[in-house]
Amino acid sequence: MRSLTSWMKQARSLISPSQPECLFCGRRGRPSPEWPEICLHCQSSIPWIRVPRCQTCGRHVGCPDCSRSHGPIPIRCNRSAVAYTSEMREILGQYKYRGNERLAPLLGLMLDRAYALLQQEQSGQQLNEALQSNFFSKPFPIRHSKLRMRSNLWQADLLVPVPVSAVRLSERGFNQAERLAEVVSLRRGIPQLPLLVRTHHTAKQSFKSRRERLADMKHAFAGNTDSAVLQSLKEHLDSRATHQLEQRPPQIIIVDDIYTTGSTIRACAEALQQLCRSQNCLAEIYSLTWARS
Ligand SMILES: [Zn+2]
Ligand SMILES: [Zn+2]
Repeated sequence: MRSLTSWMKQARSLISPSQPECLFCGRRGRPSPEWPEICLHCQSSIPWIRVPRCQTCGRHVGCPDCSRSHGPIPIRCNRSAVAYTSEMREILGQYKYRGNERLAPLLGLMLDRAYALLQQEQSGQQLNEALQSNFFSKPFPIRHSKLRMRSNLWQADLLVPVPVSAVRLSERGFNQAERLAEVVSLRRGIPQLPLLVRTHHTAKQSFKSRRERLADMKHAFAGNTDSAVLQSLKEHLDSRATHQLEQRPPQIIIVDDIYTTGSTIRACAEALQQLCRSQNCLAEIYSLTWARS
């Protein structure tokens, strides 16, 4: 005999058959008001990283990686939207390996939260610096114009997705990082430029040790020397120089789906900085990743 609850569930689904299928768990549950594509249950179990414990790599738990010495870190910091729990691994697997592209807008919006966090932190820092320089250089009268200008919200100048190899691209049909970056790009009005290319195909990283990954990744990326791409970069840097009153280096964010050991981001940042130097500029590089393991 069927239980009363299962009978009621069935009756409810007959009364309101329009309850949408949750993009995460596939069940028809009450949709989350904030994230209507997923159910309330899935929404409440998203392991958001609200306060990163490691300020460098954005990890939510104690982090031995950043204290080890690997020479200067080529990025200012990484920020991730969620902790890479088994639930999030399942979602990323659906998106990346099983090609469920319908997840891209939602995961992109989640990544945008990490952007908001980074923006908040950087804006706070910017304001602090402005206040301090005002205090020490000329306390009276406060230079309002400068203060106002520099207390504006911090904004990145460019988004650069981590490229995938031609082999992966034909397997998957899309670059998962590019799709995520697209969402942030549209929401924030930050252009996305393919400034990096993959120089060779690296085997799956998931089964390798940290040391193997670092060695493998070292030469996996290079700056994109396509003339059209370089031209857009140059135009972007030029327009920045004429419009920006404040002399701040270009703020570039590398976007990827996951940050594991940081070897990919590190290799990308080095290749990107090299490309920027070839254009006579020194950028400040950040990274934004959907999950942090
Ligand atoms: Zn669900
Ligand atoms: Zn760290």
